[in-house]
Amino acid sequence: MSWTDKELGMDRPITRRDFMNGAAMAIAAAVTPHSGLFAQAVPGPQDRPGYDPPAAHGLRGSHPGAFEVAHSLRDGTFWSHAGQPESTGETYDLIVVGGGISGLSSARFFHAHAGKSARVLILENHDDFGGHAKRNEFQIDKTFMLGYGGTYSIESPAPYSPVAKQVVRDLGIDVSSYAKDNNSRLYPSLGLKEKIFFDKETFGADCLVVSPSQRHGSKSWQEFESKAPLTEKSKADLKRLLTLNEDLLPGLSSQQKKAKLARISYADYLLKMVKVDPQVVAMLDPDQKPLYGVGIDAVSAQDAWGLGMPGFDGLKLAPGPGPGMGRDANRSEEAEKYFFHFPDGNSSIARLLVRSQIPEAVPGHTAEDIVTSQVRYDQLDQPGNPTRIRLNSTVVRVRHLGDPATAKEVEVSYVRNGRLYTAKASHCILACWHPVIPYLNDELPKAQIAALRSAEKVPLVYTNVALRNWQSFIKLQTSSVSAPGSYFTGYALDHRVSIGNYHCTTKPDEPIVLTMERYPCSPGLPARAQHRAGRADLYATSFETFERKIREQLARSMGAGGFDPAHDIAAITVNRWPHGYAYQYNSLWDPFWLEGGPLPCVEARKPFGRLAIANADADAYAYTDCAINQAYRAVNDLKITA
Ligand SMILES: Cc1cc2nc3c(=O)[nH]c(=O)nc-3n(C[C@H](O)[C@H](O)[C@H](O)COP(=O)(O)OP(=O)(O)OC[C@H]3O[C@@H](n4cnc5c(N)ncnc54)[C@H](O)[C@@H]3O)c2cc1C
Repeated sequence: MSWTDKELGMDRPITRRDFMNGAAMAIAAAVTPHSGLFAQAVPGPQDRPGYDPPAAHGLRGSHPGAFEVAHSLRDGTFWSHAGQPESTGETYDLIVVGGGISGLSSARFFHAHAGKSARVLILENHDDFGGHAKRNEFQIDKTFMLGYGGTYSIESPAPYSPVAKQVVRDLGIDVSSYAKDNNSRLYPSLGLKEKIFFDKETFGADCLVVSPSQRHGSKSWQEFESKAPLTEKSKADLKRLLTLNEDLLPGLSSQQKKAKLARISYADYLLKMVKVDPQVVAMLDPDQKPLYGVGIDAVSAQDAWGLGMPGFDGLKLAPGPGPGMGRDANRSEEAEKYFFHFPDGNSSIARLLVRSQIPEAVPGHTAEDIVTSQVRYDQLDQPGNPTRIRLNSTVVRVRHLGDPATAKEVEVSYVRNGRLYTAKASHCILACWHPVIPYLNDELPKAQIAALRSAEKVPLVYTNVALRNWQSFIKLQTSSVSAPGSYFTGYALDHRVSIGNYHCTTKPDEPIVLTMERYPCSPGLPARAQHRAGRADLYATSFETFERKIREQLARSMGAGGFDPAHDIAAITVNRWPHGYAYQYNSLWDPFWLEGGPLPCVEARKPFGRLAIANADADAYAYTDCAINQAYRAVNDLKITA
């Protein structure tokens, strides 16, 4: 069935504005062609009344206005139009490039080393702080709702380090209290289950079917078998795969088997060794995307085994690690228990980090009231504060004033409101994305530059759709859907978490936030090339295209439950992250991951003169604890004492 724009509601008056309130002028300046980059002088947008980025809808994440300057730097067109920089006359003890969790943590650790009165400036190119930890707000009639635009929760496959745990504790977060905040029984009590949406283009028919996961028992398998639009062979192969207990690599030791699995993709393992129908591979393809941003053609079979994917029982692999650094099947009980989801994701952590350094900017005192606290953006960059955060500021150059071995200062140049400024500092921490750093500094050794460049970023999209009600989910008995062939590879109603004065809705006739995930990639290419292709795709996709895809996909998959995209969708926020997760090493493409040898991230994060390097990229591990750990290490690298 095809839908007209009217049926989809493309003409409906949802709030689809970009952030045009306070930041309009900044965006206009930044999107001006290169020759106009420096044409306008506008005071800091964050200081104006009404500046409130979390309330903006439309294209967020890497929003218009955030990346154009950096791209002109990358393209080599920046400096020819840059003109003379203006000195701000400011001198700091530390300038931090990047206001994500790593940058905010760097400022915090620096104060612990250098003293509370040390002067720190954080420069961030986006219109909000937090980096990937992004807050989305919705006001739908009388209902205020939060969504996570990026970093979703406190969680990590390995236990948080003592340093990261201490930060979480000091910020007042009691991870063990999550069970009381989360109404985890609600969806099961309403009979909602995980489902799969098979689309016509990939599987021959549009069909929403219960997931055949063993958790639902044999009844769900029967339902799946009778309804899924798969061929009889595919269904038989899937059934065989789910119960497979055959040793497909006889005569090899567990280590030898794992070494083989580390060198083939899970897709190849399924197709060539288990010999399942390609439909089965297509169905399982999305399962690892939330972790790696690529499908199972680019995830090793060893990692798939470690993650508990089906098909390996008969190999009787020893659960421990090795060879190499691929996933093992041992779960850390401690890590699994350490989980906390704020309604705005880890944006609450970013906001708590800011509160701990600039209390006037984030009113309140507890990790409960942080959820409803409204940030006073005009307090972020006040001259009297030891920590200042300057938003909408893209750093374009960081250099030592003199020989890096002996220099006492660095100069940092940044563009804000279309104007080029400089500020000085005794130290600089680069907490931004590693592939950006070689464009900012030409003093670093060649090997380090190559290592920084090798840190690919993983593109992904978290789209938050504010729904007026979720009756259709009740009728179709689902709260989360995997959609293997569709534009968004999955979507889910958010956890029902109430914290402090934030009370999430619980009734199906009340509004709710639905999060839809997309992982743009190019199956068949090496992982890094897939990420580059995905990034290009994201920058080329307009909000209108996203909106149409959202409406179509929900109409097709939920229409049988009465979902009406024209009526039910109240607002849309597309958080696109062309520079998303830190790239995590993969035995299919990174030989050192299997065979040993120096890790590029270790070379990349070496301190140099008065520079230190943080960010989750510094340990090639896309988790919040890594961002904190690497900030701690970077501050230590500066060798500061109070
Ligand atoms: C969609 C998504 C979901 C995620 N979910 C989770 C999760 O549930 N749990 C988890 O633990 N981790 C998650 N992560 C991983 C997350 O990246 C880390 O947890 C952590 O937040 C990374 O922090 P960071 O400060 O290292 O990097 P970032 O958050 O990327 O911050 C770096 C900042 O530097 C800025 N910057 C770059 N260049 C410049 C420049 N030239 N000038 C000024 N500023 C610059 C960037 O714009 C960015 O804001 C998720 C990531 C994404 C993208």
